[in-house]
Amino acid sequence: MATRILLAGFQHETNTFAPTKAAYANFERGEGFPAMVRGGDVLALREVNIPAGGFIRAAEANGWELQPVIWAGASPSAHVTQDAYERIAGEIVDAARAGGFDAVYLDLHGAMVAEHTDDGEGTLLARLREVLGARIPLVASLDLHANVTQLMLDSADALVAYRTYPHVDMDETGARAAALLGGLLEPGARLHRVSRRLPFLIPINGMCTMLEPSKGMYAALAAEEGAGVASLSFAPGFPAADFAECGPVIWGYGEDAAATQAAVQSLYDKMLAEEAAWEVPFLSPDEAVREAMRLARDADAPVVIADTQDNPGAGGDSNTMGMLRALLRNGASEAAIGLIWDPAAVAAARSAGEGNSVELALGGVSGVPGDEPLRARFEVLKLSDGVCRYDGPMMNGMMADVGPVALLRIEGVLVAVSSGKAQMLDRNLYRVAGVTPEAMKILVNKSSVHFRADFQHIAHAVLVAKAPGPMTADPADLPWTRLPRGLRLKPMGAPRR
Ligand SMILES: [Zn+2]
Repeated sequence: MATRILLAGFQHETNTFAPTKAAYANFERGEGFPAMVRGGDVLALREVNIPAGGFIRAAEANGWELQPVIWAGASPSAHVTQDAYERIAGEIVDAARAGGFDAVYLDLHGAMVAEHTDDGEGTLLARLREVLGARIPLVASLDLHANVTQLMLDSADALVAYRTYPHVDMDETGARAAALLGGLLEPGARLHRVSRRLPFLIPINGMCTMLEPSKGMYAALAAEEGAGVASLSFAPGFPAADFAECGPVIWGYGEDAAATQAAVQSLYDKMLAEEAAWEVPFLSPDEAVREAMRLARDADAPVVIADTQDNPGAGGDSNTMGMLRALLRNGASEAAIGLIWDPAAVAAARSAGEGNSVELALGGVSGVPGDEPLRARFEVLKLSDGVCRYDGPMMNGMMADVGPVALLRIEGVLVAVSSGKAQMLDRNLYRVAGVTPEAMKILVNKSSVHFRADFQHIAHAVLVAKAPGPMTADPADLPWTRLPRGLRLKPMGAPRR
């Protein structure tokens, strides 16, 4: 008889400091994720680059029979409501209670906080373990931004996390989970588990795996797998969830307990030895612009500044004015900033027409202290429809429609303004506005890390600036109340008292 696998997905990255919660309707729509699906419809996710997709393809290749329950995800936000959590988690636990399968696979994030439980995934895995008993294998895949807890580790037979940020290995991670699950189904299989929790938080800007030290850490992790060590994972965490187990964890599983212990310890030692390299040199808006102007003088490629705290992929609205003000204050020229989300400004520019000028109160409606609209006269250089194809590595081939776009000029700065909100993660979002990004001296991107996929290789340098915005980039700036004493709020930071 074919091996039968119960399959479900429940993904949410919770920023407990964010303003709005994730309700059941947010999971129904999916937002940045596929919309909620149940039963056989879950199998259509096999074509999507998410962990469940990779798992489904691997399971089908193995001849396993899948019993899909539900797949539900919603965009990052504050807590998952108790109602949404209990309805979705309840459905998964009920299906497990009904039985009729040999193992369980879950596609989880690992940084979910619900209104009534700090440890969304740990609570779900523990409820499942209770229903399954000790003998049915329970395996889950996790995001690289998971805050892995002791309850999660104790309740699952194996947890396996992404190794890339930008996350381009989501389906591969699902396939790795399937390989681990296959091993656990072998008669007499037994894996030893080892985990170590790191003593400092890491800003998400420092986690990008295209760059050191993160790149080298994941290379070392892959190299440590092998004889007797079945799987190693490192989740640097999501440093905006105010609960006791927020932070980075390294863990692994192996047939050889001593070898697994040695591998995890060697990765832990590497992190401590390289702690200073994980620091992110955040710059003020003026520091970033002045440094960019200094570097650009002798460069033949643009210096890119990430306006990270207004990243629309992490809760920003892409309309704060701090970086534009800093460009103007410092007299930057041959500079461009984008995309500014301000449909009213686009409409006013269209009324004025190309080649004319227009008086605007641009952006600045975030409500964040220190941010306000920029009232000035702008020249309307170009108007366009805002439809383009993404040619960069992230979401390659996707057609984007950011609504009517206006390219404005004020002094030496080009300002790309859109009617729809989109993270600057593809160079074509500049081109659609009429900017040739490679020809600029300075680019200011409304993004934290994802832009690097399409800009890193054309940039002379990349700087990270902290202009006032809704997404706090440096965990040391957040008003934590529940982290344990002794934890450092950033690499090389002082222990929390
Ligand atoms: Zn993530």
